[in-house]
Amino acid sequence: MPDRLTLLRQSLRALNLTAFLVSSPSHLRYLFGFTGSNGIGLITSNQSFFVTDWRYREQAEQEVHDAEVLSAFRDLFAALKERNLLRVGERLGYESPHLNCAMFAHLRKTFPQIGLTGTQFVVEKIAARKSPEEIDAIRRAIAISARVWDEVLPLIKPGVKESEIAAEMVYRGRKLGADREAFEPIVASGWRSALPHGVSSHKVIQPGDMVLIDFGFVVDGYPSDITRTIAAGQPDKRLKHAYEVVRQANALALARIRPGYKGLEFDMVVRDYMISQGLGEAFNHSLGHGLGIGLHSWPRLGPTSEDQIPVGAVVTIEPGVYLPGVGGVRIEDDVLVTESGGELLTPIPRDLICVA
Ligand code: ZN
Ligand code: ZN
Repeated sequence: MPDRLTLLRQSLRALNLTAFLVSSPSHLRYLFGFTGSNGIGLITSNQSFFVTDWRYREQAEQEVHDAEVLSAFRDLFAALKERNLLRVGERLGYESPHLNCAMFAHLRKTFPQIGLTGTQFVVEKIAARKSPEEIDAIRRAIAISARVWDEVLPLIKPGVKESEIAAEMVYRGRKLGADREAFEPIVASGWRSALPHGVSSHKVIQPGDMVLIDFGFVVDGYPSDITRTIAAGQPDKRLKHAYEVVRQANALALARIRPGYKGLEFDMVVRDYMISQGLGEAFNHSLGHGLGIGLHSWPRLGPTSEDQIPVGAVVTIEPGVYLPGVGGVRIEDDVLVTESGGELLTPIPRDLICVA
């Protein structure tokens, strides 16, 4: 496979751009190896530069590869201007979702005669196809997550606070070698499990609550992202039915995933099944997303996504059902897209567990 900067330059030519400004921290890490929080990258047809402020100068000297390191006191764009790296007539692409308004205005002011073009998913599309090393990092993040799950499962029961479970997960994940959490663990019980993205609260788990737990850890820059839902005692029969439908939807997604599908086509397979079970409206988010640098990544697997799923991508499949005031169920797994379909990476069982 050609290296990352070669692939990026191919994309730039296809977009009729002569240079590209990288401002997403996770993309700076992906392209140049920089793990700090402040920097920009400039890629031209034959050169590449990494600019950071003086606090990160030494770290950048140690970490950054495939780029000349420049440092600035505060103004990173001024460092590019001083070196006259962008000339009149240049067509510079920037990352629209990763450049805030203030930075854009400053870029415009610093280079008034340069053509600026907003782009989306340029680096994400390259990063979607994972190398064996990247897949290995995701597998290690998942292995830690599975161990955390095994350790935490006996602690989930009526009388325990959501926030206590979340704290145990963070502690154990770090102890098992995770660099950090992929996001703050979501532990949502009872009526709160019907909030698709509720965080953990101090609510105490009650008998009969569904407990929805969405969690992940990062290893070497790569995350896991897993959801399981368990019952703290006998759940309401609507939730039991919802669980069975979500479990079937998850299995259907795994059986049907294949490269070449558009995100919306794949989403529709599962959504149609949910509709046939009378739960179409209760499945109120996308089927899944690419998993990689930046967590929620390309390809997007939702009802409006034209993204074509490539071989070598790792994606989540996460059907869910949310019944307001009653509770919710989600089962989320991580899947490697192969030539013939999908390889399930998540080893945690999916049968309904009742604890009390
Ligand atoms: Zn998740
Ligand atoms: Zn997810």
